[in-house]
Amino acid sequence: MEESLKDNPFLVTEGLPPYDRMQADQVIPAMERVIAESEKRIEAIEQSLEPTWDGVMRPLEAMDLPFSYAWGPVGHLLGVKNSDDLRKAHETIQPKMVEQSLRIDQSRPIYDCLKALQSGAEWEQLDEAQQRAIEGKVLQAEHAGVGLEGELKERFLDISRELSKTSTDFSNNILDARKQVELIIENVDESEGWPTTLKQIGAQSYNEARSGDDSKVSADAAEATPDGGPWRITLDYPSFSPFMQHHRGRSDRELLYRAQMTLASSGEHNNQGLIAQTLKLRKEKAALLGYDTFADLSLASKMAPGVSAVTDMVESLSMPSHPHAKADLAALAELAKASGQDEPLLHWDAAFWSERLREKLFDYTDEQLRPYFPLPRVLDGLFGLAERLFDVKITRADGEAPIWHDEVQYFKVSDATSGQQMASFYLDPYSRPSEKRGGAWMAGCLDRRVVEGEVRLPVVHLVCNGTPPVGETPSLMGFREVETLFHEFGHGLQGMLTTVNYAEVSGIGGVEWDAVELASQFMENWCYHKETLLGMTEHIETGKALPDDLYEKIVASRNFRAGSLMLRQLEFGKTDMLLHSTFDPEGSATAFDVHREVSAETSVMPSLEEDRFLCAFSHIFSGGYAAGYYSYKWAEVLSADAFGAFEEAGLTNEAKVRELGRRFRNTILSLGGGRHPMDVFKDFRGREPDTGALLRQTGLV
Ligand code: ZN
Repeated sequence: MEESLKDNPFLVTEGLPPYDRMQADQVIPAMERVIAESEKRIEAIEQSLEPTWDGVMRPLEAMDLPFSYAWGPVGHLLGVKNSDDLRKAHETIQPKMVEQSLRIDQSRPIYDCLKALQSGAEWEQLDEAQQRAIEGKVLQAEHAGVGLEGELKERFLDISRELSKTSTDFSNNILDARKQVELIIENVDESEGWPTTLKQIGAQSYNEARSGDDSKVSADAAEATPDGGPWRITLDYPSFSPFMQHHRGRSDRELLYRAQMTLASSGEHNNQGLIAQTLKLRKEKAALLGYDTFADLSLASKMAPGVSAVTDMVESLSMPSHPHAKADLAALAELAKASGQDEPLLHWDAAFWSERLREKLFDYTDEQLRPYFPLPRVLDGLFGLAERLFDVKITRADGEAPIWHDEVQYFKVSDATSGQQMASFYLDPYSRPSEKRGGAWMAGCLDRRVVEGEVRLPVVHLVCNGTPPVGETPSLMGFREVETLFHEFGHGLQGMLTTVNYAEVSGIGGVEWDAVELASQFMENWCYHKETLLGMTEHIETGKALPDDLYEKIVASRNFRAGSLMLRQLEFGKTDMLLHSTFDPEGSATAFDVHREVSAETSVMPSLEEDRFLCAFSHIFSGGYAAGYYSYKWAEVLSADAFGAFEEAGLTNEAKVRELGRRFRNTILSLGGGRHPMDVFKDFRGREPDTGALLRQTGLV
């Protein structure tokens, strides 16, 4: 290695990544080195392929190791320690990385070798996880068009390029169209009842608009103030959503609602044509790859066995939700009437009156809950639960790992019975707006895998954006923050308690994405379990546990309008599935007809004739959710049903809870992507997933 690269921390390939030494200017030289090496390696691999595990999979895995040590930390630091220099380095290398991974996916010699391995003598001797790793690679290559030749291949590549353009155009149209929508509120009286944040956002947006050209606000208008206005309301979520919930002026709400429902459906930023074109191209792409419909192509790499399984789920959830959604609507109409609204309740009233109803029913705020949830106490509760359920021991190991910020904590996880270490994790708990991305996530740091004959234990990152400590007072968490921590910890457990030794399918690697939220949402359920929740509360001043009445309200508010929310998600999921299966993009009906029909069936307040919501449905037209929107519900069904096993056994039956916890560990947490998620689920539950538990937990049956 050249002298200049010798101490480059991105080129380390053993132990933990040296986060404390990593600098942005080391990224490009390190990545160029890794990519150059891998180019040499991939050629060598292609020359010496043999249809055996050792002849193809092992060298591919070995090639991946330096990438995981170099590129992994780059992505991680972008999220937690962002800087201009790091972003620039990332942008420079990113295209080369994409090229590199396509190079592997589209390698015909490697694909042919994997196919030969599947039909060869060694196949039956491989274990299930190895077979899954190979099948996953084959499918990925096939979906990248590796099996096509000549004209068909050309057409496939053309379609892929066109689809990537329609996807970008679709989201750009939404962005541009959204910029043209604004509502200026000048009268202070009209802001009555607005939350402070809406006033701040509205005034800020007004002031920014003075210097931009997307607004009718004049450049020399006087400066707005949060309390005195004027306020500029837009369709951006942090503006639109609280406005619809709190603004009393009904005609303003109607105006904004209609703008949202017809966004990007006319004029120069019109997505109508792109919808038809996208659906047509996807259909053709699916056909080239040998699938009847695009939905079949999408489901080929998911847990749901087929379109009918998805429609069955939608049906069985929607029927029982209907009467509840009707009752929800009646309650809103009643409240509106009693509060003096003479007009019938319409679409632009729903958010407003549900918020009033929520205030009436659950008169508590997150601020009231915070003093009960100091982070150290919550962590004790969470770890205690994990130890009890999964027979593990979690110990603090600060100082034993290089970290990227002094707030970061480090823990080790071992098997409680044998005492053997199984994994470790970093927890980066607090928000740092100047350098850290918003939201919360779990990501693998090092996968469990075999390196030179030795099992290397997995390491994961858990990143949250919780409230930071102030002085001597520890972080006081909002309830949602607690739930989020449980969620990410659930993903983390699947990453850490895996017993699979092949990086492709260990931990959450290779888990079908409609199943990947199982462990995370399963853990969330425990936040509503009385003993668990109360056990991790301790008022920062009084030392008291959360009072019962607050607990009851938390639980009740969880299911507030559950039927209505359920139907809305089902409406989107079903529309998406129909558009990508039975719908004929070249037929006489339009995509909007399909949506309207579904809405009439599923919704208690069917969409308006002029509704063009699909023109802004970026999840399926410019995101990764095409024929996959149902996944949200699918995963909820799984996690609720898994938790249901504990409820059925009785949450106070300690012996049974422990037994089930261990079974959960030995199936869902341990097998990860090494076994098909339907089989893993059956291993745990003894049967296929059932929607009953979700309906029960959300109070719909
Ligand atoms: Zn998640």
